[in-house]
Order: sequence, then structure tokens, then C-alpha cells
Amino acid sequence: MLSERLKNITPSVTVGISSKVKDMKASGIDVIGLSIGEPDFNVPEKAKEYGKRSLDENKTKYDLVGGILELREEICKKLLKENKVNYTPDQIVLSSGAKNSITNVLLALTNPGDEVLLPLPYWVSYSEIIKVTNAVPVEIQTKKENNFKLQKEELLAAITDKTKLIVITNPSNPTGSVYTKEELEEIASVCLEKGIYIIADEIYEKITFTENFTSVAALNEEIKDITITINGFAKCAAMTGLRLGYTASNSEIANAMCSIQSHIVSHPSLTAQYIGLGALVECEDEMQHMVDTYKKRCELITNRLDKIENIGYVKPSGAFYIFVDLSKVKENYEYTDSFSIKFCEDFLNAEKVAVVPGKSFGIDEYIRISYACDEESFLEGVNRLERYISKFI
Ligand code: PMP
Ligand code: GLU
Repeated sequence: MLSERLKNITPSVTVGISSKVKDMKASGIDVIGLSIGEPDFNVPEKAKEYGKRSLDENKTKYDLVGGILELREEICKKLLKENKVNYTPDQIVLSSGAKNSITNVLLALTNPGDEVLLPLPYWVSYSEIIKVTNAVPVEIQTKKENNFKLQKEELLAAITDKTKLIVITNPSNPTGSVYTKEELEEIASVCLEKGIYIIADEIYEKITFTENFTSVAALNEEIKDITITINGFAKCAAMTGLRLGYTASNSEIANAMCSIQSHIVSHPSLTAQYIGLGALVECEDEMQHMVDTYKKRCELITNRLDKIENIGYVKPSGAFYIFVDLSKVKENYEYTDSFSIKFCEDFLNAEKVAVVPGKSFGIDEYIRISYACDEESFLEGVNRLERYISKFI
């Protein structure tokens, strides 16, 4: 009865675990949620004011498909100032979240059967969105010793005559790794030479703990032309539930996405757009405070993990996740199909701590911990992790 495209599609693991945590909490169980990547901050007050004012002014009618002009202009200013890349408002397409933007790109660029390259480990939803749009996800193995950052040779080996796109997530979800300019240049040059478009998912771009973040589109004009940058307000302005994302791309691709969006959603919620505008215009300090807090938390959690023997982790330079290596635990753990799925289920039942299995990002001997929550919670979560794994090593 259901469509063919639903075959092999699994519901989001990150969203699923966090719903389970909500249910457990609602039934009175004291559970520590370190699973979902959702800021514990509130939307900055000054940004909310923009939304409230827009409602008072009855800005509630249909508007431009690509998003309100003021916001697209402000995004262009932000991209020029912070990312050193020049776009015009017609090249920005607002959407109902970065997920929606990624779907727009795939619908605009892929034909059924086209291959989309996904360096492992990758965020859970890419492969499923690719399958929904009838393209084909192709995983690329990367190496632990490179912090799971894609190397030129690995990319070259994965390219076929069906390759249409590659997804580069920078900073990475789940590892928090950040590519250097040189590393991006190596990858992007191959894409340029081989005619492969780049989805540069930079939704965590503001949350970086290094001095120099490079946007793929800033590398040069030719690379900019084949790059579709994904960004949004969920992570940097703590606007997860308001659902607001955007793309920056060349005009042809932007027009194609607007054409699709005009039929499917028209445009994202106007109120969300005004709140996003407020965040960009008025809330730089509040957003910087969030980043400073994540950086401090990152130091705290890595210092704590350093004290636990027999585990490892990828040292993060951005986002708010730690990808923890439990290969030593796996050696002595009883499981049938997937170690990390079984481990996360058992850990949740035994210690009441929710984390995400590495398997959902394509690497089974890892788990992902989100530290987008208060210090006390993630430090207690790690205490319980130490206690739980001590039984298996
Ligand atoms: N890209 C990455 C790498 C993510 O981690 C997420 C999760 N929020 C998204 C895109 C989707 O963001 P949004 O909530 O704006 O749809
Ligand atoms: N992207 C976040 C995460 O990885 C939020 C949940 C989701 O949309 O996947 O946890």
C-alpha cells in the first residue's frame, strides 16, 4: 500500500531517542538526556520581540517564497562579514529548517539513481532524505587517525559516473571535527574537476572553538558556484522548534528550489522569519555567550573523559557533541546485531542516561554524547558511563 520510496527508510534515531526520554520523564523517571542536539538556551529575548511585533503588525499573510527580503538581506550581510562570501538576496532561500533545505537541494539537483556521497560518520537524516528523494546514498569510509575527516584519495575512490553530490558537514555532527582551509581545498578541487556539487552543511558554523573557520563557498568563485551552503537558526540562536533554515547557492539552483518550495510549503512561517531577523540584527552578544558556554562545557567534558581508562574520543573543535570510542567495551559486550544500539538501550535502562548509538551515524563502536545541557547533567551522565563500562573492561 505504501510507496516504494519508503522501503529501507528508518525514522530518525535522534528524534526517536529524545521522544523516549520525554516519555520517561513524563512518567516520573529521572533520566539524563544527552541524546538530542538541542540547545538548552532559550531564544534570545530581543529576537522574540521581533516575532511579537510582527504579529501585532499583522504580518501574517502569504509572503515571498524565498523568504522575507529583510531577512535575506541580513543573511547576505552575515555571510559577507563572517564567512567572507558574497551573495545577493535572490540566492538565499529560507525554509522550514535545515532538513527542509537539504530536501530542497536534493529535489532540485538529483535524478532517480544519482549517487550522493556521505563521508562516515554522518548525521542520521542525510541518508534517509536522499532515499526519500529517490537518489542513492553512498557511504565513504574515513579514518579514525584523521579524526574521521575525508581525505582526497578516499573521495577519488568513491566517485563513479553516477556521482552527483557530496555532503560535507563542517563542523561535523557527530564528531565536532572542523576542516581546515587546506583540507577543504583538497576536497573541493576534486569536486570541481569531476563536476560534483557540494552540499556544505555549516549549521554548526558559529559554534567553533578554533580561530579560523572556512566556509567551502569562500574558497574561490568556481567552488562557490558548485556549492550549496546549508545553514539555519536552530543551533546558533537556539530556535530548534521554530523551524528556520536557509541555503545560499547560485541563482539557478536557488530559483529551482523556490519553484519546488512554491508548491510544497510556499515559505517558512513568517513569525519564525521575523524572530530569525531579530537574532541576526540584535542578538550577536547572546549568540556569542552560547558559543562561549559550549566551549567551556567542551573543556569540562573532555577533561572528565580523559580520566576514564579504556575509552577514547574524537577531540571536538566545534558543535556540541563528543563521539566516544567504546571499542574496548565492545570486545567484552554481549550483543547480536549492533553493539552501540544494544549498549545505549542497556545504559538507558540501567543508569537512566540517554546517548545516541554510533551505529546511527554509521560507526558501531562509538556513542555520541550531546553536551548541549547543563554541566551538572552531562558530568553526572559521564560518571554513570564510567560506572557502567567498568563492568565490561
Ligand atoms: N544538519 C545537521 C548537521 C544537523 O545536526 C541538523 C540537526 N538539527 C540539521 C541539519 C537539521 O537542522 P534543522 O533543525 O534546522 O532542520
Ligand atoms: N540534529 C540534531 C541531532 O543530531 C537534532 C535532532 C535531529 O534533527 O536529528 O541530535
